[in-house]
Amino acid sequence: MELSSFLQERVKGALVRSRFLQLKDMDAPTSFFFNLERSVAQKKLLTCLKLPGGRITADPKEMSSHAMQFYEDLFGAESCSQECRRELLEGLPQLSVEERSLLEGELSLEELTAAVTQMATGRAPGIDGLSTDFFKRFWNILGSDLHSVLMECCRTGSLPGSCKRAVLSLLPKKGDLALLKNWRPVALLCADYKILSRALSNRLKDVLGSVVHKDQSYCVPDRTIMDNIFLIRDVIDVCKIYNLNVGIVSLDQEKAFDRVDHSYLFSALRSFGFGDGFVSLVGLLYQDAQCLVKMGAGLSRPIPVRRGIRQGCPISGQLYSLAIEPLLCRLRDRLSGLSLPAACSIECPPTISAYADDVNIFISNQGDVRCLRDTLSLYERATAARVNWEKSGALLVGEWRDQAVPSLPGGLEWGREGLKVLGVYLGTEGFKSKNWEGVREKVCARLSKWKWLLPQLSYRGRVLVVNNLVASTLWHRLVALTPPRGLVEDIQRAILDFFWSGKHWVQAAVLYLPVAEGGHGLIDIQSKIASFRLQTAQRLLFTCGPSWMDIARLLLRRAGRLGYTKQLFLLKLEEVDLTGLTSFYMSVMQAWKMYTFKREKTESLGMWIFEEPLFFNDFIRTPTLQSASLRASFREAGCTKLGHLVRLTLDALKERTNITSSRVVERVVEEVFAALPVKLVTFLNIENLCEQWSEEGEYSFPSLSVTPDVGEWQERGGGLLSFSTPVLGKFQDAGKKALYQSCVKVLHLRGLSGVKESRWIEFFGPEVSPKGSWRSLYKLPVEKRTADLQWRVVHGVIATNRYRAHIDPGVGEECLFCSLTETLSHLFVECPRLSLLFVLMKSLFEALGEDFSYAVFVFGPKYSAKKKTVHTLMNFLSGSAKLAIWLTRKNRAQGTGCVEPVLVLEGLLKARLKVEFAYYQMMDNVQDFNSVWAVEEALCSVGGDGELIIHF
Ligand SMILES: [Zn+2]
Repeated sequence: MELSSFLQERVKGALVRSRFLQLKDMDAPTSFFFNLERSVAQKKLLTCLKLPGGRITADPKEMSSHAMQFYEDLFGAESCSQECRRELLEGLPQLSVEERSLLEGELSLEELTAAVTQMATGRAPGIDGLSTDFFKRFWNILGSDLHSVLMECCRTGSLPGSCKRAVLSLLPKKGDLALLKNWRPVALLCADYKILSRALSNRLKDVLGSVVHKDQSYCVPDRTIMDNIFLIRDVIDVCKIYNLNVGIVSLDQEKAFDRVDHSYLFSALRSFGFGDGFVSLVGLLYQDAQCLVKMGAGLSRPIPVRRGIRQGCPISGQLYSLAIEPLLCRLRDRLSGLSLPAACSIECPPTISAYADDVNIFISNQGDVRCLRDTLSLYERATAARVNWEKSGALLVGEWRDQAVPSLPGGLEWGREGLKVLGVYLGTEGFKSKNWEGVREKVCARLSKWKWLLPQLSYRGRVLVVNNLVASTLWHRLVALTPPRGLVEDIQRAILDFFWSGKHWVQAAVLYLPVAEGGHGLIDIQSKIASFRLQTAQRLLFTCGPSWMDIARLLLRRAGRLGYTKQLFLLKLEEVDLTGLTSFYMSVMQAWKMYTFKREKTESLGMWIFEEPLFFNDFIRTPTLQSASLRASFREAGCTKLGHLVRLTLDALKERTNITSSRVVERVVEEVFAALPVKLVTFLNIENLCEQWSEEGEYSFPSLSVTPDVGEWQERGGGLLSFSTPVLGKFQDAGKKALYQSCVKVLHLRGLSGVKESRWIEFFGPEVSPKGSWRSLYKLPVEKRTADLQWRVVHGVIATNRYRAHIDPGVGEECLFCSLTETLSHLFVECPRLSLLFVLMKSLFEALGEDFSYAVFVFGPKYSAKKKTVHTLMNFLSGSAKLAIWLTRKNRAQGTGCVEPVLVLEGLLKARLKVEFAYYQMMDNVQDFNSVWAVEEALCSVGGDGELIIHF
């Protein structure tokens, strides 16, 4: 019963969608919308296969049996050496007792419920045909039953048949598509299987970081792919700057996920200290697993799966990270790692960077190569993994003058230019420029694919295309690298041209503002980059972890030869020469300069105090150290931080700095201590505390609150720009979105500061403002194009005759209906021809219990949740009235059609009411019709016989 109503709802959903299509509302962020572009691309099909003998066949039977054989071989277990396995799994990091017990225990219903809620909707169902959406919808009925079934499964150690079977759907990769290895098998799994897998994944998440080393980031919470990219980028830069040698080998593994042997996986889990309960729960997922290959319309018979981690299963990424960790552990122990000069030694120099099966290894000498080869061969024998040496890559960084270049196995040769790491080209400047080749053209090509839809596309639709389909393809590389000069500007120009498709009516920066502040939230790439840099700063200052940070600190120390790392963020940067930074970190500091920061007065005492910079630091203002030459003496003496000053006696300081006058040195020390709050001075003088301070480690950075640096600018009434939102507060807590939105305002401060809040100030006076009503202009049921007209009216984006005459003196500036000048306010409010229209509007507003005013008509109601239904309807009426005015003017200009606005308005309203009524009637839901359209019975009501009665 409930199932049928569920299905009916789905049908209704489809109806609703088609209704909106009829209304030309083509630009909601639906999958239909996003598929408009994709449908243009041709689908790649598996039409023929190359058989092992080399013959190519298109015969479905032959193709099917070949595919069966291929996957039987792939998923069949290969014999592994137990001895090698034991050796590989020795000495792994262990879960703590608490962590282990966290993972044990029966799955609770709550865990399953949490898992169901997290799952994505709208995915293809597995072999039983039950979708995730189905489980979500009926969870209150099915939840406890599924829970009992799974409990039973745990007892018997086997899942129901449908759960064991996955449908393998083949997706094309690169290369010859007649070869099956060039198709990626994606497992379509049953929803109940995925619920179990997700619940286990949630348990695993909390402990994964304690056994998986920080240099591996795939599917480990709080680590990202960028950690890997940053590390390699910075290692290359460090080698260049400090004149070091390193080789980076990028391993290619054959079918890495598909070849993971199940029994190896479980041995590995036990070796990390996972308990029996958890291992057997994971075991359930793989017990007697089978797959059916989907070829064309048919499915193959079931193939047993004895190895391979199922891609498409929520826990698969985490399991893979655990499966490869023993290899990485062994490498970490045995490789020498990046060799750094003594002066910049770090606790554990990086040896590896791993993200899923993408493994990069730092090689320092021939011994490292030998170790790599031996360890990999052990790993291969223990797990049946395969390394493709000929497909692997290798990059040699540095001069290697007084050192022999290690030779590589398997015919692999060193390259000198660079490597493509996780989608980013890293290496020499020339090699890095590959990241940007053809990017401009690609963006333009993508935009032009949408040009055919432009006339149908509202402003919102255009923003959707740009932000989600075009600009987002750039983020991955822009997070890690600074783009070449001019590129971003060019792309931004193309985006703006696309948005306007003609005259650019308002300042671009207005479009970048959020919708609630009169903009459209169109992406501004420059601001996006700045916000990425600020996020990097957040990570640098307030998290400790990823190994790139150790290397990043070596790069930061170069700035102005100051030896500061995180301290750079405490300096008055306008006074500091940052020369020596790489272009990436320079751009981080530049983004940081857009803000002013305040130290927290309540900062708790801690070792950070020893790290306080002595120069350019407002926290310790010292007039004497303003002298550049004095600073240089202190710097050369290695005395740049408060800790140095505390550590050294006056005599030692004098001697080290070579300053002859003891008075000067004394004065500096006096000034520093005088500038510090008393409690800090007391703290600093605690005996032996300074001895505990070590400069090498990370230190916990003091808390800062940040505000945009707006210079002389002051907020005044009547301007569009306001810095009252977003509030950033403490820098470590500022969200991505808030950072981006504030970057937009700071970067476009100059352009935006001259923009008025609306073009109606002369008419309404400064007290009446569109603040608080921007968002309501677009509230449904107003159609997007009508909403665009409303937005244009407020911003004055309308080609009135006054405007036209200004551009082209040949055009008269008179109104088409009366002889007065056609200004914006004349066109939409003042023209005598509108009096009847406003009489109707007034009476409709009164029927809604609201006063009519021109301000509400132009700006829309100040939306409040309490009066939601009334306000949406008022907004709908105003939108329709503006449309009526605009259409009749167009009709007059073209000399055809109705020119009486009140008639057109009535027509628009009646037509919409009828369509809506017919729709809700068909859906058997007149109640909903009433709650949207018959509010206060102002526009219409439904009569006793269920007929629509229109009240105007
Ligand atoms: Zn007029």
